[in-house]
Amino acid sequence: MSNITGKVVIITGASSGIGEATARLLAESGAHVILGARRIERLEAITSAIRSEGGSADYQAVDVTRRDQMKDLVNYVKHSFGKVDVIVNNAGVMPLSKLEALKSDEWDRMINVNIRGVLHGIAAGLPIMKKQGFGQFINISSIGGHEVTPSAAVYCATKFAVRAISEGLRMEVGGNIRVTTVSPGVTESELAESITDEEARQFMKEYRKFAISPYAIARSILFAIEQPGDVDINEIIVRPTAAN
Ligand code: NDP
Repeated sequence: MSNITGKVVIITGASSGIGEATARLLAESGAHVILGARRIERLEAITSAIRSEGGSADYQAVDVTRRDQMKDLVNYVKHSFGKVDVIVNNAGVMPLSKLEALKSDEWDRMINVNIRGVLHGIAAGLPIMKKQGFGQFINISSIGGHEVTPSAAVYCATKFAVRAISEGLRMEVGGNIRVTTVSPGVTESELAESITDEEARQFMKEYRKFAISPYAIARSILFAIEQPGDVDINEIIVRPTAAN
């Protein structure tokens, strides 16, 4: 029996891309997955597909920018399934543009989803994990959390923040609570669809030619979860072979 069988795993941003692939792969590997996102009809369809393939899954609508909704999701999981083994804070948005375009509403969205969303996941899960004496946070950063690219200052800032928050949390909690950061390179998903800036859109179109499958990222998340309890995979970077 794998080390993941029976684990209760919450995944935010599970309605597409990396979150969806992670939900499918973890369920296939024996976890009970709870999918969260805003597009409920997508969550419903993915959940029934997982169940029809013999996996164990549930879903709940959540907007990660809303602290109360994230708390409700995690509390619902704890009450319904008795524990919370893992929270994958994956939800993210990437409306890229140069700072001089002054798309400050888009800056706010990135800060709210990519940073506050992760903090809300931690705030909701940490008290439960401390009480039960175990748990794991897997926070999705990016290659953009390691290096800054043109048109991506704010997005990269949010992903640098995810790494800083994760590392701080890891040093604080220790014990039986594990913290993992996963930093994907360019991956097939709907992420670039939120770009409204024409120049940034064209740039990403070229760059995304190298995109790898979201299952490549899902496999790294599975790897971090299935380690023995005394092993904490701190960070994984996954890039396409063809991109640098
Ligand atoms: P997708 O756009 O396919 O998925 C993003 C997910 O986030 C969707 O399920 C979306 O669901 C959810 N989401 C967005 N806003 C909210 C919100 N306010 N509340 C709840 N859920 C929300 O992109 P990816 O799969 O690529 O993105 C997943 C993560 O991976 C992100 O954090 C992204 O930054 C990161 N990443 C992706 C890379 C790539 O090249 N694809 C590279 C590096 C990092 P819904 O709209 O239904 O709420």
